[in-house]
Amino acid sequence: MVQPRPIRDLPDELISQIAAGEVVERPASVVRELIDNALDAGASHIVIRLMAGGVRLISVEDDGAGIAAEDLPRALRRHATSKIASLNDLEHVLTMGFRGEALAAVASIADVTLTSRTAGMTHGQRLEARSGEISPAARAPGTTMEVRELFYATPARRKFLKSDATELAHCMEAVRRHALARPHVAFTVWSEGRLLHQWRACTLEQRLRDMLGEEFVSGSREVDATIGPLRIQGRVGIPTLSRAKADLQYTYVNDRPVKDRLIAHGVRAAYDDVLHGNRQPAYVLFVSIAPERVDVNVHPAKVEVRFRDSREVHQALHRAVEAALATSMPPLLQPVLPPFLPPTAHLNAVEPPRSPTISPQRLGLTPDRPPPAAAPHQPMAARSVIPMSPMQQATLLYAREEPVAPLPVEKPTLGRALAQLAGLYILAENDHGLIVVDMHAAHERIVYERLKTAFQSGHAPLPSQPLLIPAGFAATPTEMACAETESETLQQLGLDIAAIGPGRLAVRASPAALSQADPVALARSVLRDLIAHESSQHIQRAHDELLAGMACHGAIRAHRHLTLPEMDALLRDMETTLRADQCNHGRPTWRQLSLKELDGLFMRGR
Ligand code: ADP
Ligand code: MG
Repeated sequence: MVQPRPIRDLPDELISQIAAGEVVERPASVVRELIDNALDAGASHIVIRLMAGGVRLISVEDDGAGIAAEDLPRALRRHATSKIASLNDLEHVLTMGFRGEALAAVASIADVTLTSRTAGMTHGQRLEARSGEISPAARAPGTTMEVRELFYATPARRKFLKSDATELAHCMEAVRRHALARPHVAFTVWSEGRLLHQWRACTLEQRLRDMLGEEFVSGSREVDATIGPLRIQGRVGIPTLSRAKADLQYTYVNDRPVKDRLIAHGVRAAYDDVLHGNRQPAYVLFVSIAPERVDVNVHPAKVEVRFRDSREVHQALHRAVEAALATSMPPLLQPVLPPFLPPTAHLNAVEPPRSPTISPQRLGLTPDRPPPAAAPHQPMAARSVIPMSPMQQATLLYAREEPVAPLPVEKPTLGRALAQLAGLYILAENDHGLIVVDMHAAHERIVYERLKTAFQSGHAPLPSQPLLIPAGFAATPTEMACAETESETLQQLGLDIAAIGPGRLAVRASPAALSQADPVALARSVLRDLIAHESSQHIQRAHDELLAGMACHGAIRAHRHLTLPEMDALLRDMETTLRADQCNHGRPTWRQLSLKELDGLFMRGR
């Protein structure tokens, strides 16, 4: 039998040690807290010195406001802070932290020395936390925090640390997280007495270049959007810059580095269309929001935040990033052409045959519901005028033998087609040199964007085309059930699939836009996707995936011979299609090989 034990107040030191467990996971956590404090003190230059990955020494020196002599002991006390005085303050903090427990926590598990001088003091003061001893010290205004022998008092925790090199890498990551958001602050990092990094005060763009490399800056798009109460700024990497790990994702809320799942999810959603599920986008994003709409104090280490309206934040990020990614062509190669529209004669020639089984209503063609894709303010939509279905337009373009309309006088950015290579690539020439296009990937992207535009405008069903002879195929019981229960969704997608006997389904109509696709392969793929998404809550996302799968079936296959006019038509379509330079799987659809690069190949000086 368990005897009741007396309840005691914990000694202060023990409370701090327990708190330290939450605040300090590893040396990098201390680095983060100390840089937080230095930034809050208005530092313009921060020097970080590390020994043994921060386990033996972390010293952070700043040229900030300093701490008055009489406040020195208070700085290390628990729940002592200069940053808030009331609950009202709590709702308006813009500083990095105010829980007032960081230094106390660190001092409880390491050997801490605090040296500081304010502008008004003639010399500095030095406080040894262990002994409480204060002595005069020579130094310029500012503060130096030295943390030695981390976890010496809690050896069990010390055992969880990884190698010095790993801890050093984590410390550097902590510095980087802060430094990215504070380009106007200079950072210097020393390790084992050697200069490791030096970042001078500069512009944000320069800081991004210095820390993340030219590749990130040139391979990313600028984001600057104000959506509702949020301002979202920064840079998002194009899909080809994606990585296997989520190690190049920096997010900030009111300049505070955070790792917030909600933000990450909102951003990832914007990449759904252009990135394979297991690839990770690269980005640096700054979210600004009124302090009263976000609680930054929920996490002891202050890396997670809580938004008052999380949906609003999620949607704003999704939209801002999506918009930035949609402006896909590099500035040099912005499309200059008006949307290419085929001669009207073709419009009539390819009107999908109407059969009594498909009512105009289902085609979305009744007068009271005009073809939704024809909205004039949507350049993309205007191109896929129904009843001329998008893919038919494309199919026809790429299939016909007579030359297409002469090119407009402006220089096309993807140039003129020269030849087809290995049945896979289109070679074209423009002012800058050679263009190589992945034919299938590019066409897949065009078909996908068109399907999406046609599908999303008012959620009209995709125009469908009855097959002359229904295409029957053997189906599993799951497929049979899915075809029945999801018949409405299938119709929305332009597919009419019916049971024609035990274990057999038949495609009776397929999307006019995908007349090139093998109807059975298409039906099977859509059924498979639907079964996979059966329990999915994300209908929109599921639709996008369905459409992407369909686009793949509808796109021109490799090894199909294209004539020069057909190739030119594809190039013109790419120029006017949103995100045409990324295929649905995050691979590029085209590449430019400049004359300079070609010269280089042949060691030819110009
Ligand atoms: P918090 O940052 O949450 O207030 P800390 O324990 O990190 O709590 O710091 C306690 C206090 O010590 C701060 O509120 C601040 O007044 C002072 N302080 C700590 N570091 C510095 C620094 N580098 N420069 C000036 N003041 C500092
Ligand atoms: Mg602090």
